[in-house]
Amino acid sequence: MLWMAASHAQLPDLGGVKVSWDRYTGPASFTATSEARFKLRVQVDRKADTQPLTLRVELPNTGPNAWPANDVEVRDEGSAALLVQRSGIEWEKLLIPLREGVNSIVVQAEEPFAGWPKTAPEKDRVIQDAASGAQVRIANWPHGRRAALSIRFDDSHPTHLSKAIPILREYGFKGTFMVNPGPKEPGSRQNFSFETQHAEWEEVMKRGDMELANHSAHHRGARSDEEMEVEVGSAAEAIWKLTPGRSKLMALNLGGGTRWETTRTLRHYLDKHHQFDASSGSLGMDDSYGGRVEAFRKALASHLERGLWCRMHYHYIGDGLSSSEANFRAALDIAKQHQDKLWIAGMADIHKYQAERSSTKLTLVKSDANSLTFQLDCGTDATLYDQPLTIEVTPPAAWDAAKVEVKDASGSALKAEIVKSGNGRLLRLEVTPQTSSYSIDSSP
Ligand SMILES: [Zn+2]
Repeated sequence: MLWMAASHAQLPDLGGVKVSWDRYTGPASFTATSEARFKLRVQVDRKADTQPLTLRVELPNTGPNAWPANDVEVRDEGSAALLVQRSGIEWEKLLIPLREGVNSIVVQAEEPFAGWPKTAPEKDRVIQDAASGAQVRIANWPHGRRAALSIRFDDSHPTHLSKAIPILREYGFKGTFMVNPGPKEPGSRQNFSFETQHAEWEEVMKRGDMELANHSAHHRGARSDEEMEVEVGSAAEAIWKLTPGRSKLMALNLGGGTRWETTRTLRHYLDKHHQFDASSGSLGMDDSYGGRVEAFRKALASHLERGLWCRMHYHYIGDGLSSSEANFRAALDIAKQHQDKLWIAGMADIHKYQAERSSTKLTLVKSDANSLTFQLDCGTDATLYDQPLTIEVTPPAAWDAAKVEVKDASGSALKAEIVKSGNGRLLRLEVTPQTSSYSIDSSP
């Protein structure tokens, strides 16, 4: 496919990619060509214009043509990676300054070191066995819940310690705190409560009922690979210091209103520092947006209906601040009303469960009328992904659910909860997200 573009006209289809000049109205023109899936070449004809030129490339991030924006980099004719500018929360929108002499660039998604994520089809997470009549499946969410909810707080504000955490504890909910560990820089208007109230955060993490996440060291972006490395890496290190011995995996959100300039993919930083991207898909709860409590009620209902992960985020909690205490409590009250159907957890907890589950396959090893052995193959790294998976076993009507025993590969019996389901009963148990086999016996 070859699409000719006049100086700023944008032809409708490059698989949904939009290419244009950034703030330029001179004679120079470009031609954008789709060369392969997730590979686009842009040829520039400067027409003797010596002004600095910047290309704006917007990649579709939803729908069938969505690009894996976190894996995208830009190279010149000589295959040198170019510095690209992006907003912290819109990685799919690229601003590419073209140095003199650079007249052809390739925008492409680079396959991650660990390969493209593989999702086993849903049928691979269920065994419907004819010989025993039993069904084994990996539950959509832990503890029989229908959907998940994460409650996030950005920008390390002192009211997270003075208001948000005590109130969350009243409700028994876990919050995810996106912190800027600093150190504080002169002239910065950012809050650095993580640095100035370090002992209090240390206390929170010792108690272990809240989660920390990476909002970059200073919430001000970066102008080079080196700076970005420090902004992401030093923040992760500061958080790991408070969570010794625990999984290093955490959520990363580079922050709204920040600009990042790097030659590398976001994936490079995510993988290197054991982070996952948590920059989008969240309901902003600042009072200034208006009608937040109702918006949350609706969002939660729709996520419950579809069995999905509902994300919300706050800034500062308190009267006259971004969210009033009354509105904060009103939203938590709504979550509380649905608590029996809702897994309210940290963002890393929820991300881990989803990633583990989608990489897991169940296969039948052997079965007869009274027993069944299955293999669980899990594709995630157990040192990072340590959220237990929930398995549900529906025994055939002929079995006495109370007598059914599930054993791991070493022969130890696992603790199963017997719960009512439809007109029968099922066994619910938790397993470690690692490849192993399990046996189910109706008459041990
Ligand atoms: Zn922020």
